[in-house]
This record gives sequence, structure tokens and C-alpha cells, in this order.
Amino acid sequence: MSKENQLSPEELEAALLDCAREPVHIPGAIQPHGALISCDVELRRVRQVSVNIETMVGISVEQALASSPEELIGTEWIAELRNFVDTGSPFRVLVVSISTGGRDRRFRLLPYRSGSRVVLELEPIKGKPERRLMSVLAEWQTRLATMRNPEVLLTELTALVRELSGYDRVMVYRFDEDWNGSVIAESRSKQIGSYLGHHFPAGDIPEQVRRLYSVKRVRDIPDATADPVGLVPEVDPEDDSPLDLSRGVLRAAAPIHCVYLANMGVVASMSIALHVGGRLWGLLACHGERPTVLPPELRDALRGMVQSTSFQVELIEVRKKAELIGQANDSRDLLLNDQGEFRKLDKILKRHGKAWLKVFRASGVALAVSDRLEIAGEVPDPRNLEAILAWLGQESNGGRIWASNELGATPMGRWVPPGIGGLLATPLPIKHSQIAWLLLFRQEKIRTRIWAGNPEKVLESRGGQISPRSSFKSWSEEVRGRSDAWMAVERRAAADLASDVAAMVAADEISRLNERLTQLASHDDLTGVWNRYRIGEEINQEIERARRYGRECCLMIFDIDHFKHFNDTFGHDAGDEVLVRVAKATRDSLRAADHVGRWGGEEFVVLAPETGLDDGRLLAERLRQIIEDLDLGDYGTVTVSIGVAVTAGEESRRDFVNRADRALYAAKDAGRNRVEMAVG
Ligand code: GH3
Ligand code: MG
Ligand code: MG
Repeated sequence: MSKENQLSPEELEAALLDCAREPVHIPGAIQPHGALISCDVELRRVRQVSVNIETMVGISVEQALASSPEELIGTEWIAELRNFVDTGSPFRVLVVSISTGGRDRRFRLLPYRSGSRVVLELEPIKGKPERRLMSVLAEWQTRLATMRNPEVLLTELTALVRELSGYDRVMVYRFDEDWNGSVIAESRSKQIGSYLGHHFPAGDIPEQVRRLYSVKRVRDIPDATADPVGLVPEVDPEDDSPLDLSRGVLRAAAPIHCVYLANMGVVASMSIALHVGGRLWGLLACHGERPTVLPPELRDALRGMVQSTSFQVELIEVRKKAELIGQANDSRDLLLNDQGEFRKLDKILKRHGKAWLKVFRASGVALAVSDRLEIAGEVPDPRNLEAILAWLGQESNGGRIWASNELGATPMGRWVPPGIGGLLATPLPIKHSQIAWLLLFRQEKIRTRIWAGNPEKVLESRGGQISPRSSFKSWSEEVRGRSDAWMAVERRAAADLASDVAAMVAADEISRLNERLTQLASHDDLTGVWNRYRIGEEINQEIERARRYGRECCLMIFDIDHFKHFNDTFGHDAGDEVLVRVAKATRDSLRAADHVGRWGGEEFVVLAPETGLDDGRLLAERLRQIIEDLDLGDYGTVTVSIGVAVTAGEESRRDFVNRADRALYAAKDAGRNRVEMAVG
């Protein structure tokens, strides 16, 4: 393209804006393959007619304007139309016969409301109605029901439409999330070029044109080179607002669109909208190198075929989504079925990571809760993950889902290695102040896009005129750094999963906290044996049992000898170590039914149920020996003095413990490293 054809960015922007604002719905003219009559809503007066009314209907413009709608169309049909108006039911297309000058002509009559008028669009029907169409339509419906692959389905559709219509090229054009189109199915004659696999920039079909497709599913331009036909009078005598022709089929084409078609080498063009899930999903686009006036009933049949096809496409998509939801729900069930150990954060991804990657078509997954980070598959390294989490914490206000399928175009680009194109970050609903995320990473998909013409040149300037690009020559572009987009169902499924994980993590934290609290409440921090409170409780219970069942119960209190000296010699840490060793040795020497607790400082209590004086003495002596034999390395050895008491029957804990305590002091007095029995 030569330099003078290039638009400056400002010019281009202004031209694109103009294009997007072009009032395509009120051209004030129609195409010449039909005629238009505009009436008041009561259908009593004709207000405007198209200039070609005489050639089409056989009545002059003057005569038509002087007639009533009844006189023009026939009483019978107008009565039917009034019925629609009176009952408030939507207009239906009629097939009407009009006799003028001794000749019967049949028309497809499309009535619609447009502001203060009812517009009647007439298209001539030539020859006999095509009987075959109904069976073709029926066959297509049957065929559709068996189809599972949208692209195969749509390719068959294009072939059938071409066969029925005689267009040179029929293609299905699908919109992406940014309204760029790509041709995913095509049928064409040998002499016309192929657009299969080609992409068209969003600007080719501006927003207001797309909007028209939801009002009117079909856009038919049988001959883009034909002169448009004006209306008489030019302005409605009773309503000077321009006549909105959005809902009609005859609306004249926008001049810029005609140039676009000419640049494509096309004269005839018909498009039928494919709506899926309430959104414009794509277009069936037909091109003819020669003018192609479709019989209206054929066009209606094609519209019906496209419509039922879009239902099937929707069904296939819904099934695909249902399958994904099903898989996601299965993952949730599996996750929630996990018990015990497996509910812990560090186990979740080990068990389920792989399955999640499959369900979400992800290449890596990370679970971040507070300062804990679990990963599976390919994810950025921990430092970069931290940066990502920090950024998400700041950017995602209120912890909202954050997603991108082109990370390079976001601040995340810095932290993800090449090859990762997408991220779906779902906050775990735990606590606002806490950073908790489920991160799913998706691989980039390198694609070669073939554009039909340079997509950056939707418009160009020629001889001072802005016009659509003149070249539709293939133009390749490699698309890198992008992953498949995150679908709405995938986002919802991730949110569900995140809330399950959050619930599990919270439950796990509660149980860990509980364990910790229980431990704290009953155990001595240093030695891990019961604390004074807990062993005291146990003494109470044993006294009660001994009383109730007439059993004996033995209580020992022992104290490390000269421990002050030990501490002074080896230091407090060494003292602590010895306390731990002594506690452990004590516990290891006892039966399962016996209990040991730290009474305070370097004093411990052993409680031995169902143990009388003799056994108690033996037990205490054995314990004393075990401790004396403990090899404490550099610290040498320690000894203990033990006081033993046995209770049977009525005695308070205080008295019981005091007796054992007195025996301990007796042992100390008697020279230490020995056992003394309390007197009963
Ligand atoms: P006795 O043979 O009469 O029991 O002499 P003792 O030195 O063991 O008795 P004393 O009551 O004079 O001293 C007890 C010592 O035990 C003093 C204290 O520093 C030490 N001790 C108490 N609790 C701990 C502890 O948790 N860690 C350490 N390292 N030492 C402790
Ligand atoms: Mg001591
Ligand atoms: Mg002491």
C-alpha cells in the first residue's frame, strides 16, 4: 500500500468512529428488489411509498399515495393486519395476492411497527411455491440431531445452503470475545477464493450492525451495485422523524458496506445471524459474484435452517459445559470425601492436583494460604508466585476473581515464565486479612492467524476519501502469549472448588488449634508429660475409683537431688535437657495404665492404679535405679529421691499427696537417692 493511502492514527480513529455511528438503520431508501408502503398504525392512510411501487405492484406513486391501504393491498389482508394491531400480537409474515391492471401478483408481505407507522415491505414471489423446501428442512432437522461436532455440522450447513441458493461462497463466521471473526466453515465454487481459517477484524462488522442482527436475523443484499430506491414523499408528512427500517429486509445498504463488498469482489451478500445462548455467536455469510435475488420463501427456509442449527450448536455447547460442571463436581465430591490427614492443605494438591489440571485445562495449580504454598504442575518459581500473590492482594479489592488469558499484557507478565499464557486466580473465602488463593495457570497456545487483509487497516484513505480496505489478501500474524480464554463456567467451578478448599482449610485449622489447646491445657510444655493440673485431675479420679471399687492406688512423688547445683554447674539449658530425659525415662518405664506428670520445678508425680504397698515399693525402686543409670554424657548422672504413698478408701487428694510428700522429705533427709514409704 502506498504512503498516501495510509491514515494517520487520528484520522483512522475518527473514521472508525464515524463508521460506528453511521445511521445504517435509517437510510431513507430501500433496495430495488421489493417495494415499501408506510401507513399509520390504524392502517387507514398511506403516508409514504417507495418510488418503484409502479414497477413492483403496478400502481403509480400518485395513485398509491391517494389510496387507502385496503385499496392497495386488499381488504382481507388489511383486516388480518389490523387484527395483529388490535390484539397486540406480533405481526406475522403474510403471502398476499394483489391484482392490478388485470394481473395477479403474489408477494411476501413483511409488516412491522416503526415509531408512529406500520411499514409493509413487499417482495415479489415468482412461480410456484417450492414444495421441496419443507422436506429439505425436515431432513436437516433430523441430520442435526445426530451431530456432535459444531464444525462438521456447520460445514454441512454451508454446503446445503450453497446448493439451495446458488451463491458462490457460503461460510460461517464465528465471533471471538473481542468480536473479531474467523471463518470456521465454508463451501464455495471452484472459481471463487477461500476464506476458510481467515480472520476478520472486529471493525469489519461495527457494533450498530451487530446490534441490528438481534433485531433482524437476516440481512440480504441481492445486488450491492444496484441504485437504492427512494421514498415519496421523502419525509413522512405527519412524522418528520426518519423512518427506521431496522426490522425490515429491504433497507438500503450503507455505501461503505457496498464498497467493502466490491473490494471483496462480491456483488450479492446475504447473512443470517447465529445466536447461541442469547448472544450473537456468528454469521452464516453468503457471497455471490453476480446479483442473486433469493425467492423470499427460500430465504425464510434458510433462516429456519440456520436457526435450528444454532439450537444444536447451543445444545452441543451446553453439553460441553455440563460435562465440565460434572467433572468439577466430581472433583468436589472427591475432595470432600477425603478424611482425616487428607483434609490437610499439603495433601490436597498431592491427591487432586492432577485431576484439577485436567478439568480446568490448566498446566499448573497453586494453593496459597497465609504463608503456606502448595503447587502441582508447572507454576512460576516461589519468588515470582509470591510477587503474583502480593499483587493480587492489592489489586483484587475484596478478593475478587482475577483472570487473564494474555498475561503478557498485564503486570503479571513480569512474573510468569514464557509458555504460560493465562491465569485464573480465585480467592479462597477465608478471612479478608488473609491472603488465600487458588491459582490455575494455563499454557499459551501459539496460533497463526490468517487475516483477510491487514486487520490494522480496516479503513484506508484513497483520493481524500475514507473507504474500507481495498485488499483482502491473506495476511499472516503469529499470536503468542495467549491461552484459551477462561469460560464463565470454569470461573464458577473454580469458585466452588475454592470455597470447598477454604472450608477444609478452616476445618483443618480449627482441629489443629483444638489439638494445640488440648495439648496446652493438659501437658507440660518442656517435658511433654502431663502438667500439674491434668495429673491432679487424674489423682482425683483414681482416689474415687479406689474408693468405689475398694482398690488400692499408689502415688509417688520424686525430686531430683541437688538439682540447683547441677544447674549452677552445667547451666539452665543442660538442666532443662535433664528434665526432659528424666521425664521420658520415667514414662518409658511405666505400664500403659500408669501416669506421669510434672508437679513443678524438678519434681514429678507418678500415679499407678491398682498398686499396693509392695508393688509400689518395687516400682519406685526400679524407677530410682533407671534414673540413676541414665547416661547423661558430659553431665554425668543424676539421682532422685522418691516418696511413695498408697491409698485405699476415704482420703482427700490433699492428704494423699501430703503423705507422699512427707515420705519424699524423709528420703531426702535419709541421704537422697532412695525410696521412702509413707505411713498409712
Ligand atoms: P534437693 O536435693 O534438696 O532437692 O536440692 P535441689 O538443689 O534440687 O533443691 P532446690 O529446691 O534448692 O533447688 C531446685 C532447683 O531446681 C533450683 C531450680 O533452678 C531448679 N529448677 C527448677 N525448675 C527447673 C527447670 O524447669 N529447669 C531447670 N533447668 N532447672 C529448674
Ligand atoms: Mg531437688
Ligand atoms: Mg525440689
